[in-house]
Amino acid sequence: MPFGHDMVHSLATVVDLVNTSPSTGGPDGLTDLEGLGEFVKRHEVSGVGRLDATDLSRVRALREAFIKVFAAPDKVTAVIRLNTLLSESRITPRLTEHDGHPVHIHYFAPGASLAEHLSADLGVALAHLLVEGEWERLRTCSAPDCGNFFVDESRNRSRVYCDSRTCGNRMHVAAYRARRRA
Ligand SMILES: [Zn+2]
Ligand SMILES: [Zn+2]
Repeated sequence: MPFGHDMVHSLATVVDLVNTSPSTGGPDGLTDLEGLGEFVKRHEVSGVGRLDATDLSRVRALREAFIKVFAAPDKVTAVIRLNTLLSESRITPRLTEHDGHPVHIHYFAPGASLAEHLSADLGVALAHLLVEGEWERLRTCSAPDCGNFFVDESRNRSRVYCDSRTCGNRMHVAAYRARRRA
């Protein structure tokens, strides 16, 4: 994938954020502050202070806004929806170097809440995906009982499952059994 580490990291974060939604078929992964704290830790979201119920409800609302972008039927609609999300985000580009990462750009404004932080950084990452003509890499899992989104980072854009160890493995086993029965 022609993206830097930071872009890859932001894309993984936004994909995981939407996949915590029950609308992708699994249990709701953001029902309480504990789940939100785990999400922050999992993706090493920097500069996050103490989280409260307002953070939780704002991140949940943001998650729905991102799902609308992901579920857009075409690129034109995705652009419109992403522009709406970006227009509601405070964005201040700033070069930074922290926690051993090379110098990179943060887009969230100083003093941003967690939801503002995520909408700025993840929104800009999706904007780049559109601009670079790589939107087709954003896909849903091909397993029939899974609605997870994923970013296909493979060179030939051949990935079909959200996770090769879970959905991919499950589907391979099913195909193998079907062949044995035939
Ligand atoms: Zn950073
Ligand atoms: Zn899957």
